[in-house]
Amino acid sequence: MRVLRTARRMGLRTIAIYSDADAGAAHVTAADVAVRIGPAAAKESYLNSAAVLAAARETGASAIHPGYGFLSENAAFAQACADAGIVFVGPPPAAIRAMGLKDRAKALMAKAGVPVVPGYLGDDQSPAHLAAEAAKTGYPVLIKAVAGGGGKGMRKVDRPEDFAAALEGARREAQSAFGDDRVLIEKYVSRPRHIEVQVFADAHGNAVHLFERDCSLQRRHQKVIEEAPAPGMDAAMRAHIGAAAVKAAKAVNYTGAGTVEFIADASEGLRPGHIWFMEMNTRLQVEHPVTEAITGLDLVEWQLRVAAGEALPKAQADLAIHGHAIEARLYAEDPRKGFLPSTGTLERLRFGKGAGIRIDTGVREGDAVTPFYDPMIAKVIAHGETREAAAARLADALAATAVAGVATNAGFLVRALRHPDFVKGEIDTGFIAAHLQTLVPEHRTPPPKALAQAAAFLLAERNAVSASPDPWAVRDGFRLAGEGREVARFICDGAPLTLEILYHRDGRHSLLLDGAPVPITADRGDTARLSSGALAVMADGDTWLLLPDDPLESAEAQGHASDRILAPMPGKVIQVLVTAGEVVKRGQPLIILEAMKMEHTLSAEADAKIEELLAAPGDQVTESALLLRFAEAEK
Ligand code: ADP
Ligand code: ADP
Ligand code: MG
Repeated sequence: MRVLRTARRMGLRTIAIYSDADAGAAHVTAADVAVRIGPAAAKESYLNSAAVLAAARETGASAIHPGYGFLSENAAFAQACADAGIVFVGPPPAAIRAMGLKDRAKALMAKAGVPVVPGYLGDDQSPAHLAAEAAKTGYPVLIKAVAGGGGKGMRKVDRPEDFAAALEGARREAQSAFGDDRVLIEKYVSRPRHIEVQVFADAHGNAVHLFERDCSLQRRHQKVIEEAPAPGMDAAMRAHIGAAAVKAAKAVNYTGAGTVEFIADASEGLRPGHIWFMEMNTRLQVEHPVTEAITGLDLVEWQLRVAAGEALPKAQADLAIHGHAIEARLYAEDPRKGFLPSTGTLERLRFGKGAGIRIDTGVREGDAVTPFYDPMIAKVIAHGETREAAAARLADALAATAVAGVATNAGFLVRALRHPDFVKGEIDTGFIAAHLQTLVPEHRTPPPKALAQAAAFLLAERNAVSASPDPWAVRDGFRLAGEGREVARFICDGAPLTLEILYHRDGRHSLLLDGAPVPITADRGDTARLSSGALAVMADGDTWLLLPDDPLESAEAQGHASDRILAPMPGKVIQVLVTAGEVVKRGQPLIILEAMKMEHTLSAEADAKIEELLAAPGDQVTESALLLRFAEAEK
């Protein structure tokens, strides 16, 4: 959708490709032409070079923009495009290859005079040698897959005695994700901040940088919130890393958009000499809109112009920073369940808007989040005069964002953006883990604002129903309990919740939650009755699900939860951490499942004994597949 927008503005004819899972997707409707390339599985569609090229030939496409993922950093695909006489909107295959493996890229950069993270890059991959190199580097160290990406195949090791096990884990992950188990050793930088530089080069020998982005807000080495410029970056330091990034691009004869990633030791602020090259991503990044916001440029337009053989539209001296921009990635995931991706239909999808807000999204209300691809719903980008202004705008926009049908991280993002340390710019890659208690609170009761919205919604629904007799009156859980008083019972977050509405003689209402008064207003806010019958109350980015309390149904549901573990989504079993007959504690990890690009740990919900294990490493499982059964609790 992002690429289509610019291409169309430039007067280009656009052709979308889609898998069966995306037949009704927004991009299919938006493009001038759309071609089906295969079934839902990415391997058979979006990652299938032959099918993508066939679609290009069939429609007479002159260029292919590979987007941000899938084939965008695949040198063989870039080569196949060239061989077919189709322009690949990206760097030449040789540049992709040079930067594709982390060890080779680092060696190349060191030779070009770009500072790299100290560590070991050698061919001797024996565990004993690697352990000796780790000791030489000095703990803590990071083991990284040379073919790595997306935070996979990476392990931080704090003590020598943990090295062997960590190496084995990193290797296993690297082998399964990249088919290459080679690793490198890096010094683990303290107070790490991820600072990256946007570079652009053309085929006429020009190369510039478009300043830096700070992507330190990460979870499990994956970016969550990104901003430009980096807090605390001064002009000298910016010139220093900008020059290093341009040098990196020139060293591999780069063309088009690229990002040079650095890791900084921010224990005493950002300083030259304390920032090192990490890797280069040879594509446009997901987070490019923050750079667009502060430069006023369209980076996709630059990409298309460079791909068409034009010179860069601007020289370094013509580029300047205006204000500050922050982007948040809105995901269909449940922070309270370890950020497990959440699939389903977007029954409600409303974005908070406002001055300086940009929404990039590929889905619409009514679309489904499927288990096949990345669960990102949208990127919300805020631009402001200052960092404080941008953060406040972004938090407000996300707080006004209402999503129901799938769980999202919107409330989590709002809390992160309003956290005093974030506001002060005190961020490093450990921020989310360090503040998890605050960002993902354990609260079980919706806040008064959400309850008041629920009550207002129920009253309105009630009034509509009494005007026309309808089975809703039975389904909504209301029971008439005497004149002037109604009681509605719900299950919210696993706990019973009783809402009482008192009707006063003067026509006013008041509201009691579990017997205690809560303020009531006429504002329903974003509240919706979902197809399941649940009431979804959306407030400050959080969506509260109020399930009509049906004692029979909930007892059954609880029975299911406690005696077995089902696969929450289709995926692959990576590791089984327990054995049959073992007694496990509440919260103990049982099985690691890989799905939707990520690993997910399934844990015990209660102390229990394992009766039967039905999953083994390597198993492909369908949604709701039975993975493990607990023994019946002894009475
Ligand atoms: P970044 O470093 O910019 O965060 P990611 O590793 O998150 O990049 O990948 C960029 C995008 O590529 C993702 O948002 C997703 O849309 C897409 N993508 C990449 N690989 C896959 C995959 N195997 N399955 C689904 N989506 C993918
Ligand atoms: P990927 O290919 O998975 O993006 P990177 O090498 O870019 O791998 O590292 C991903 C993230 O891991 C970084 O953004 C940073 O947060 C963290 N990281 C990487 N290298 C180091 C290091 N040497 N010290 C501390 N943190 C690091
Ligand atoms: Mg990276």
